Amino acid sequence: MAVMYKSTRNSNDMITASKAILKGLSDNGGLYVPDNIPSLDVDLNELSQMNYQQVAYEVMSRMLTDFTEEELKHCINSAYDKKFDTAEIAPLVKKAGGNYLELFHGSTIAFKDMALSILPYLLVTSAKKNDVTNEIVILTATSGDTGKAALAGFADVPGTKIIVFYPKNGVSPIQEKQMVTQKGANTSVIGIIGNFDDAQTGVKNMFNDKDLAKEMDAKGYQFSSANSINIGRLVPQMVYYVYAYTRLVAKGDIKAGDKINVVVPTGNFGNILAAYYAKEMGLPIAKFICASNENKVLYDFFETGVYDKNREFILTSSPSMDILISSNLERLIYRIAGDDSDKDVELMNALTTSGRYEITSDMKAKLSEFYGNYANESETAATIKRIYESDGYIMDTHTAVAAAVYEKYRKDTGDDTPAVIASTASPYKFTRSVMEAIDPACASQSDFELVDELNKLSGVKIPQAIEDIRSAAVLHDTVCDKNEMEKEVRRILGL
Ligand SMILES: *Cc1c(COP(=O)(O)O)cnc(C)c1O
Repeated sequence: MAVMYKSTRNSNDMITASKAILKGLSDNGGLYVPDNIPSLDVDLNELSQMNYQQVAYEVMSRMLTDFTEEELKHCINSAYDKKFDTAEIAPLVKKAGGNYLELFHGSTIAFKDMALSILPYLLVTSAKKNDVTNEIVILTATSGDTGKAALAGFADVPGTKIIVFYPKNGVSPIQEKQMVTQKGANTSVIGIIGNFDDAQTGVKNMFNDKDLAKEMDAKGYQFSSANSINIGRLVPQMVYYVYAYTRLVAKGDIKAGDKINVVVPTGNFGNILAAYYAKEMGLPIAKFICASNENKVLYDFFETGVYDKNREFILTSSPSMDILISSNLERLIYRIAGDDSDKDVELMNALTTSGRYEITSDMKAKLSEFYGNYANESETAATIKRIYESDGYIMDTHTAVAAAVYEKYRKDTGDDTPAVIASTASPYKFTRSVMEAIDPACASQSDFELVDELNKLSGVKIPQAIEDIRSAAVLHDTVCDKNEMEKEVRRILGL
């Protein structure tokens, strides 16, 4: 059955998958959502014998129904190749009472690679299918990881340009170094004086600016998005939940049909939403455990039904989750409102004008599969140290937030359903925070000394992504005010 994509803010705006991937965001600011989610009518035992690429095809072909088999297989096989440092692509590692799904084996060592290594292929294929001749300008706001993964994915891809905005003082030193050393004639990286939400709002405003779109079109450009507002990010993320589940089946840890829980360190709500969509496709998931850091707007939302971003923005050691406006939550809101775009518009307008909205009790009742909690900075650090000491396994700060919340969940509920914990970054990406959690005495060492220290403690090979930036030259040094983002885009595009 064909899947069409409709806007959360206008159900009449309904387009094919390839068009939705090209557009990124709908005209009225809504997000594209599938109008139905077909069932995964392949036997789970059969899937457990397939490799990552094969599972990806089974899942994605059901969601991106206007792609041919040949097109989709080309995208999948081009994305999930030697860029990943393991043939498993996303290994499932059993440690400390959880199954850590390591989503960081791609070229930029964060889970964003899972989707951003395939998005350029999906986008270029979509452009061809729809006879688009404009050059596609990928406009991206990043809290650190999306930026680098998108840059790596789009660098020197013909027919595209990529412009990344990141909060100048809101990413880790290694994240920043990774971005500002990016090669590729079509890449631009700009630090903004502002936080991630400012960057994301600036990008959304440019997307919604019809006059700017006209000017761009006249010059042969059109925008698209590599952020998780693009459905082309979410669909590839459904794959690894199916993959993880079927690895548990293959190992005999569960039987096909048994339920699992998933634990997801959450920022923009894309990763956990992909798990929710995987469940709608038929994957047996019992609970979605949504883990936040001290920016616990989602925890409060699940507790009270009130989403309220009016609070202090806290810079934490898990910067990719330092977010107060979780864009993809809108897709869940739309769903629990019964696919009611008027209700969605009402709530999202309230969010824009007052920074807050409250869902109805009927809607809240539909959130019973979700459990929210958060970990503060000291709990996060203590979790890294504890699991290192008990299991010799070193995790990054984001994954540690998830592990800490999973502990709280088990204490709160006694539920010991097998859990898959999304491990979203390599510890090497957040070396300083990770090493200081294990041994505060290392605070005086340089970032690369700490990399070598982490290598000794963990015995895990230093990823190529880290070796690459040790000596790389800084190629991007533009910084602008949060109000000057459009000016920078105009400068880059010569508008
Ligand atoms: C992006 C990111 C997250 C948050 O994922 P969302 O899909 O935005 O919820 C968590 N951890 C890391 C390391 C990330 O890069």
